[in-house]
Amino acid sequence: MLRLLLKRSSRSYFSSSCLQTHICSWVKGSNSSKPTHLSYDYAYIQLVGQNFGSQVASGRVYYSSGCVNLKKIGFARPHAQTQAQTMRSFCSEPDRESIQYDVVIVGAGPAGLSAAIRLKQLCRENDTDLSVCVVEKGAEVGAHIISGNVFEPRALDELLPQWKEEESPVTVPVSSDKFWFLTKDHAFSLPCPFNNRGNYVISLSQLVRWMGVKAEELGVEIYPGFAASEILYDSNDIVVGIGTNDMGISKGGSKKENFQRGIELKGRVTLLAEGCRGSLSEKIMDKYNLREKGHAQHQTYALGIKEVWEIDEGKHKPGAVLHTLGWPLDQKTYGGSFLYHMTDRQISIGFVVALNYQNPFLNPYEEFQKFKHHPAIKPLLDGGTVLQYGARTLNEGGFQSIPYPAFPGGAVIGCSAGFLNVPKIKGTHTAMKSGTIYQSLVEFKSFILFCVHYVYLCGNDYAC
Ligand SMILES: Cc1cc2nc3c(=O)[nH]c(=O)nc-3n(C[C@H](O)[C@H](O)[C@H](O)COP(=O)(O)OP(=O)(O)OC[C@H]3O[C@@H](n4cnc5c(N)ncnc54)[C@H](O)[C@@H]3O)c2cc1C
Repeated sequence: MLRLLLKRSSRSYFSSSCLQTHICSWVKGSNSSKPTHLSYDYAYIQLVGQNFGSQVASGRVYYSSGCVNLKKIGFARPHAQTQAQTMRSFCSEPDRESIQYDVVIVGAGPAGLSAAIRLKQLCRENDTDLSVCVVEKGAEVGAHIISGNVFEPRALDELLPQWKEEESPVTVPVSSDKFWFLTKDHAFSLPCPFNNRGNYVISLSQLVRWMGVKAEELGVEIYPGFAASEILYDSNDIVVGIGTNDMGISKGGSKKENFQRGIELKGRVTLLAEGCRGSLSEKIMDKYNLREKGHAQHQTYALGIKEVWEIDEGKHKPGAVLHTLGWPLDQKTYGGSFLYHMTDRQISIGFVVALNYQNPFLNPYEEFQKFKHHPAIKPLLDGGTVLQYGARTLNEGGFQSIPYPAFPGGAVIGCSAGFLNVPKIKGTHTAMKSGTIYQSLVEFKSFILFCVHYVYLCGNDYAC
């Protein structure tokens, strides 16, 4: 399995030289005179300080006071143990490979990659190193990200300020912003409730791919093609990593000849960035009662269906943005459409239907088909070709549905936690932001303060 992982990894990290480097960094740390503190990666945990007394007692978690300073805190394990030793000893099943990292991130979306990039940047700033791995279930980074997006670049400005010079795929500024109310035969223009000035029309999967390259340049290991399918706990019920899915299982559930047991990716911190309604994230929220703890309402969801079309040159207006309400949905059904003009004659067209619709016979895909035949939309698509399509749920619960994001051993970030700004229908920059601000959270002692901090950092997104 490890060999397979290496083969699939674009950077064959576990070549002996890299492993050597890794071992050296452990050993370097273990030479320090006093037990060191794993404070940065437990930043989130500090938020809920006293709840983790048991971790301290078990000798696995250490607290530092105040802000993060990797250089100051050093980088070492409490026990002088090499990486290779750790790999073997932590393995909870004899036939299962286990790899130890400092931080394991599930999901190479905007949130997961932003967290990985920021961690590595902090390491550089503090002249130290943390091993960061990202596991992604898509065959490649971006494969499971649905393309087409109006992107607010604020979080990218902060994370990778040089993005304009470094050929990022963020190139098409919003050129017009329209909002229509549709009846069956007509389109009525309404004042636009969004402010997309300064935003860009992008392909999110391309942006994520670019971010993946940036992350790897900083030393993040990304393993596409592996789904995290289980959470690993230690004897104190603290999350210590994830297990990837077994491979070579027949439809009936029996092991095939090519069966391979999933591997354990252990992290001193595990960040769940699975996107909306992530399976592991939901389990963690239930297990640690994160909704109750954060006084959060239940989450609500919508289904978004998206298609990328190539249309005639004469009809293509790069940067044009259109949202519609009304037909074909009735007044009791919440939802609407979006249509964004990207580059290269491509448009992203889609339809979102909130999943609390009352009519049990309503089919969101059929509503989308009807929408494309509206007299104000059809002429644009005539003569065009569908290049890609997909569907994905999105969070509709908003700010009041964000659970307490930290759990023993890690945190839930991005749309896994529901950071999408519903009135703005934007979740990319908030996902990125939630992946990068958690190191600041160490300064806060309560979730309320975290919320205030979040709203402040996200530019009063929820006050828009
Ligand atoms: C139809 C639609 C339109 C949207 N339009 C916009 C828009 O115009 N502007 C905007 O800002 N936002 C928009 N959003 C929201 C935006 O896409 C999300 O807020 C953002 O992608 C969330 O980022 P994330 O990293 O949290 O999750 P995601 O982008 O969902 O990424 C999660 C990643 O984790 C991987 N993953 C999940 N589970 C596992 C697992 N168990 N193991 C391994 N990998 C896993 C997935 O394959 C995926 O690559 C839209 C969303 C939809 C559905």
